[in-house]
Amino acid sequence: MPPRSSSKPGGKRWIAETLFDRLGLRMTFAAARMRREERSAHQHLVLFDHRHLGRVLMLDGATQLTSADEFIYHEMMSHVPILAHGRACEVLIVGGGDCGIAHQVLKHGSIARVTQVEIDSAVVALAKRHFPQLAAPVLADKRFELVIGDGNAYVRTSERRFDVVIVDSSDPQGPSAALFGRDFYAAVKRRLSPGGVLVTQSGVPFFQPGELAAAVGHWRGLFADASCYVAAVPTYVGGHLAMGWATDDKRLRRTSARTIAARYRRAGRFATRYWTPEVHTAAFALPRYIAALVEQAAD
Ligand code: SAM
Repeated sequence: MPPRSSSKPGGKRWIAETLFDRLGLRMTFAAARMRREERSAHQHLVLFDHRHLGRVLMLDGATQLTSADEFIYHEMMSHVPILAHGRACEVLIVGGGDCGIAHQVLKHGSIARVTQVEIDSAVVALAKRHFPQLAAPVLADKRFELVIGDGNAYVRTSERRFDVVIVDSSDPQGPSAALFGRDFYAAVKRRLSPGGVLVTQSGVPFFQPGELAAAVGHWRGLFADASCYVAAVPTYVGGHLAMGWATDDKRLRRTSARTIAARYRRAGRFATRYWTPEVHTAAFALPRYIAALVEQAAD
């Protein structure tokens, strides 16, 4: 559902996120300047400037990123799987049209190729123009390959193998709905090299408990290890965001901060604003109510 907006004569336009309307909850932003609003072939896009959060992108009424806090989500979705894996070369990103994830992944010199499968070219075009700090270095990097298409179809038909698959999708609505199903995860499993890692955007458990539980339940039947890690992203309302974790290598999420720090040093200690080796390992220590969702999840 597109965001709702209201404005008083001559006043600011207020843009309301409608993602949690069913819960009677709306985060509303005062748009200092509207940048773009369009219905693409796949979804409704709204882009505006906010005095405190910078540039804000919404798709179908759900906040996707703001230039003020994007680093938290993008760093944790990228550096955790890559440094936990320890020998990753080939990375697949499903979604990720704003290029924020690819921007972090390409900081790893050991990564030989990043393939991004994004369904909506309008999001990439918007990122090029309005989030150049994310998109420009990515699109200029020879290791980066962009495929405009449905991620679900890609993982079913491709024959390639990946060490890390990052599903940076919007919420389970519209074009993203298919990226939360068991068949999609089974196809992703076939795309992973032995010991490969799948991470996903799995919602905010406090308001979207079913999203994480359903995903972990699907992974239980497919992978030896299924869980999640967490981080708080200020504009993803509801406290901890869950980042889903699935792999056949049970040791990876228990890798010590010391080993992660050594791998980070070898990777050149690139700049981060949220991720550290200690934050990495601590993120797998789940609050009890989220751990319960993971433990009780069944296929
Ligand atoms: N971090 C954001 C979040 O947590 O909600 C997601 C950001 S990213 C902009 C989400 C991207 O997934 C969008 O660009 C959207 O077009 C893309 N997407 C949605 N469904 C898709 C599909 N089936 N295949 C590939 N990309 C898809």
